[in-house]
Amino acid sequence: MQPYKDQTLRIHNSLTGKKDVFEPINEGHVGMYVCGPTVYSNVHLGNCRTFMSFDMIFRYFKHLGYKVRYVRNITDAGHLENDADEGEDKIAKKAKLEQIEPMEVVQRYTVDFHNTLQQFNLLPPSIEPTATGHIIEQIEIIKEILEKGLAYEANGSVYFDVIKFNEDHDYGKLSGRKLEDMIANTRELTAQDEKRNPQDFALWKKAEPQHIMRWPSPWGDGFPGWHLECTAMSTKYLGETFDIHGGGMDLKFPHHECEIAQAEASTGKSPVNYWMHANMLTLNGKKMSKSTDNNIYPSEIFSGDNNILSKPYSPSVVRFFMMQAHYTSILDLSDDALQASEKGYSRLMDALDSIDKLKTGEKSDFDVAAWKQKCYDAMNDDFNTPILIAQLFDAVKHINLIKEDKESISAEDREFLESSLKAFVYDVLGIENQAMSKDDSGTLNGVMDLLIDIRNEARAKKDFATSDKIRDQLVELGIQIKDGKDGTTFSVN
Ligand SMILES: [Zn+2]
Repeated sequence: MQPYKDQTLRIHNSLTGKKDVFEPINEGHVGMYVCGPTVYSNVHLGNCRTFMSFDMIFRYFKHLGYKVRYVRNITDAGHLENDADEGEDKIAKKAKLEQIEPMEVVQRYTVDFHNTLQQFNLLPPSIEPTATGHIIEQIEIIKEILEKGLAYEANGSVYFDVIKFNEDHDYGKLSGRKLEDMIANTRELTAQDEKRNPQDFALWKKAEPQHIMRWPSPWGDGFPGWHLECTAMSTKYLGETFDIHGGGMDLKFPHHECEIAQAEASTGKSPVNYWMHANMLTLNGKKMSKSTDNNIYPSEIFSGDNNILSKPYSPSVVRFFMMQAHYTSILDLSDDALQASEKGYSRLMDALDSIDKLKTGEKSDFDVAAWKQKCYDAMNDDFNTPILIAQLFDAVKHINLIKEDKESISAEDREFLESSLKAFVYDVLGIENQAMSKDDSGTLNGVMDLLIDIRNEARAKKDFATSDKIRDQLVELGIQIKDGKDGTTFSVN
């Protein structure tokens, strides 16, 4: 199946500032690179949102029938504390602090990153390369840029010559900055600066004797500049020019601007056709920050162990909440917003669970094919998940009307609706039906049947203390018991 042949997808391209029609370099194939985490601390919820946005994008391409090569790197060296090529390496600093090997830091937080993303039901990328695994490739690119005369060596370090590059290229085209303005707004270089201009950035940094992460190079022992790894890994696996490069909005400058400069300097080609940037997540209307305590980790949301939210929320509810906003909009997380998402999530899951039990009739009052195209239209408009979700709830409304015998649906349409709805919810949005998808749902059902039996026996004996205790304690665990005509059922929030 190649549904992409019937759909016209538009992507907001940060490079052109417009929604451009997506035309892949190779028909039926998509090459996508997304800047991954620097693994020196537990993954931040805001970063989870970025990776979740690109996971949804990855999923939609796959759903459309494209073969996607999705590369998302792990930064395990070279990321200094500030953007001016100064300060310590983030990983080396943490290793010193905890008195462990840098690679222990990398291992610990890579595992945390993978576990957290798995809880949010993110698909693994096709390739997950590391900076330390691509030192040779990075050195090769530096040599090419030096040969072109667009970089210079100074005291064992190599810097990219931004002024020289800008003579024949446009440095600042992605972020919409002008080099003259940047120069006017920066401090003067001091005598000890190795750079010719403050805008120049490091391709290779000399390792001082105390620096623990170091590799040999033609310029002496050192380590690569942070921007270089993404150029090396994206072009190695996706080609000198590839379809999509994504990342958080905060990476647009200088990181992505520098990536463009490095690639254009070494290959003479523009590296990326569509640049995509995901927006940030705020918490209770304010920027998330560890230093002000306005911060929450995913595990604290799932466990309820925090001072910010009134109760725990499942990864599926959090993912549903994230998908309710467009990836280019700022999204604010709050208890009220999560509660509203939880209700919406339950309504959607209830509807999904009930489709195959819907009575079918001769005719359909619901035009499923037209509805499905509206879902595609939403996604084709720069992956507009909030509009898609509004369409999903339109289907939920019809499902509920059919349940109440106010509308009817044919057997064929019911099947079509079920498969389409499941495709958009599970495959594209990546929302799991948490009550159903747990491996232990069989065990849970068994235990619940037993508890419901005990409760019914207690009620028959008028032992209401016991029956109420069972009901109330289940509610505390997020399980609702409903007594109906056909017996007692339960639902998990
Ligand atoms: Zn990057």
